Amino acid sequence: MSSNLAATLKTIIQENGPIGVDRYMAMAAAHYYTHHVAIGQDGDFTTSPEINQIFGEMVGLWVMAHWAHHGKPAAFILCECGPGRGTLMADILRTIKAMPACLSAAHVHFVEISPAMRARQADALGETQQCQWHDSIDTVPTQPPLILIANEFLDALPTQQFKREDNGWAEHVVGLSDDGELIFGLMPHAPLPFDHINAGQMIELSPARNQFCNHIKTRFAHQNGSALFIDYGYHVPPVGNTLQAIYNKKPCHPLSHPGQADITTHVDFHSLNRLFEGYPHILTTQQAWIKGMGGDDRLQQLCSGNPAHTQTLTQSYQRLTATDQMGHLFKVLEVRSV
Ligand code: SAH
Repeated sequence: MSSNLAATLKTIIQENGPIGVDRYMAMAAAHYYTHHVAIGQDGDFTTSPEINQIFGEMVGLWVMAHWAHHGKPAAFILCECGPGRGTLMADILRTIKAMPACLSAAHVHFVEISPAMRARQADALGETQQCQWHDSIDTVPTQPPLILIANEFLDALPTQQFKREDNGWAEHVVGLSDDGELIFGLMPHAPLPFDHINAGQMIELSPARNQFCNHIKTRFAHQNGSALFIDYGYHVPPVGNTLQAIYNKKPCHPLSHPGQADITTHVDFHSLNRLFEGYPHILTTQQAWIKGMGGDDRLQQLCSGNPAHTQTLTQSYQRLTATDQMGHLFKVLEVRSV
């Protein structure tokens, strides 16, 4: 793909007409993650595992608990989707060393589209840790049991947007203005079955997220395992436009830097939670989840071992868990096959 994605998009739109927000997001995200190593304190945005090690440690505890729940198999697939800089997996592996049988049973698989990110992930794990990469979840082996982690992965998957108007529905699309710049517009669309949306309001649908979660659900019929999805999003039926872009650490208009900015929407956990009906599943907040896993105790332990870092550790832990920071905006969805 051209490094000047804006020009490519303009040509596509000129030749074939406006494109859906989902296609725009897919092209912008693929370009962005291929050309930028975006995450971390020095990147465009930062994520929970980069903020405080307690996040990855709690995920590591969760992995051990679920490995035990599934009968301590001699081998299992430890799969992370969208692993970023590899910090989360490095923290998980460091934590599960506490149970050597669990560590030696773990076969690490990553689902990652970006070659630049793959290189970072390899560095984070070091030469001795074997791991395999996949472009998609489809090629991750279907046995032995699967323990899957996805932090801030679903938000990057493409989303369609639809608006209810006085006389029907319209799709929110990306087209060209008279002077040839990318602009949002509306195209008439067949009626949609969302009675909770009033005229003038938007709804976001993500077939890509549903397809990903349906894939996991189908696997769980034949492959034992557990999945942990963590992301910002709703736990009630969603309404509105949450498309957001971050360029050089600052919010920007979603169309102003295509392929140069991180572009995401909030995840509709309400629907994903329902999708997993029939399997044991729990939807909660990041605050409740981290505290429930013992995060507060781990914070105290880390602070007493490193008194000079008490303030930094406490502030970064607050960032992960406080109600007005990531604690409530971020949701955690756990699913098990059995
Ligand atoms: N989980 C990491 C990073 C989240 S950023 C963390 O918590 O720090 C999103 C990650 O998903 C990046 O590694 C990006 O390259 C990857 N990614 C984005 N879209 C993807 C797709 N469609 N398939 C696979 N990986 C994708």
